[in-house]
Amino acid sequence: MSLSVEQARDLVFARCRVLETESVPILEALGRVLATEVRSDIDVAPFDNSAMDGYAIRAADLVGASESAPVTLAVVSEIAAGSYSELEIGPGQAARIMTGAPVPPGADAVVMVEFTEAGEAGGATHGTVRIMREVTSGENIRRRAEEVAAGDVVLSAGEEVGPAAVGLLAATGHATAEVYRRPKVAVLSTGDELVDVTELPGRGKIRNSNSYSISAQVIAAGGMPLRYPIVRDDRAAMREAFAQAASEADFIATTGGVSVGDFDYVKPVLEELGEMEFCKVAMRPGNPQTLGSIDGTPFFGLPGNPTSTFVGFEIFIRPALRFMQGHAKLDRPRQQAVLAHDVKKKRDRRYFLRASLERSSDGSYVVTLSGSQSSALLTAAHRGNCLLVMPEGEELFPAGSMAEVIRLDMEEGIQ
Ligand code: AMP
Ligand code: MG
Repeated sequence: MSLSVEQARDLVFARCRVLETESVPILEALGRVLATEVRSDIDVAPFDNSAMDGYAIRAADLVGASESAPVTLAVVSEIAAGSYSELEIGPGQAARIMTGAPVPPGADAVVMVEFTEAGEAGGATHGTVRIMREVTSGENIRRRAEEVAAGDVVLSAGEEVGPAAVGLLAATGHATAEVYRRPKVAVLSTGDELVDVTELPGRGKIRNSNSYSISAQVIAAGGMPLRYPIVRDDRAAMREAFAQAASEADFIATTGGVSVGDFDYVKPVLEELGEMEFCKVAMRPGNPQTLGSIDGTPFFGLPGNPTSTFVGFEIFIRPALRFMQGHAKLDRPRQQAVLAHDVKKKRDRRYFLRASLERSSDGSYVVTLSGSQSSALLTAAHRGNCLLVMPEGEELFPAGSMAEVIRLDMEEGIQ
């Protein structure tokens, strides 16, 4: 009996756990999930400061100022970013000020340099300035603690660290962050026909491409692949390799050997070493998706065909690895698009077809198959940017009808 995709996914999550946390330099926290809230050690900004290059003034002095009736003020100081001035700005006075410099006492606004004209030079003093505009009190001043106050929470546990969060960590005095660790994923390809990428395949042999495509998917999902040597279609060899993987990895992904061929030993060996939960999902490509565990380590047996492994990873393993890393968002964005052509399918399976989503000139999204849908071929997955989802229960989806796609070009987020 085949499970539905949803039933199978629930069982995958049930076998996974959220991993431990670790403290890492903030750049290594990029893309990971915070395990603790983050508080600031200081006010950010630490002081009221100018948002513009211009003049710090008292807004009341400029009431009525215009191009035809400029107001002339005495410039009493000059404040560059990184310095400060304690000299109080009195009525009729101004301070030349640069972006980011502390606003001096007495001033309550900054007027942009573009609305001013330097007046007479002042010799030993700073001279005068003519101002051609009124300003409101507070204008062009960035307030102390506008981002966060000392001791307050700037980032919360469970939030993903993007580039802006890395900047906030730095601004609030954190060189390291506590995040969930990356899962170590054992990647094992099974098959007597497999040779390594560096070899020219002999008669009846093919290159082991799955080990690399799966490892790449592991990296893209935030995990760390442990690539094992090719495992031959031999029970003892499988037993040894799977047991080693269970002792070294947080998750085991195998490819091949889960079908009904005479030498497909993955399932019996899994049952010997641990337990098998399911071995069939009502989907195409890749019906024989297999789940189990060995000594508590989740085990996912992907089919052998390159696109069946690719899709199986995307639908089951990627969300599981994200769950293990503490992510709340586990699913890629989905959206509706207009089918560019008829699609026929078997009634009882859900199809995940490799397709391209494009925006047409009228703004609507159109989805087109991106190449041959043979599960032995990877080119359509490479050329495409989405999976076209064709649900169970129907056999024909006509051109022009609406269909759902999973955006492979977008990170998990908005649903
Ligand atoms: P299997 O499920 O082991 O019968 O494999 C199904 C198909 O996938 C066969 O045509 C295999 O040659 C192919 N295949 C299996 N493993 C790999 C691999 N690691 N890389 C590329 N193709 C593979
Ligand atoms: Mg095989």
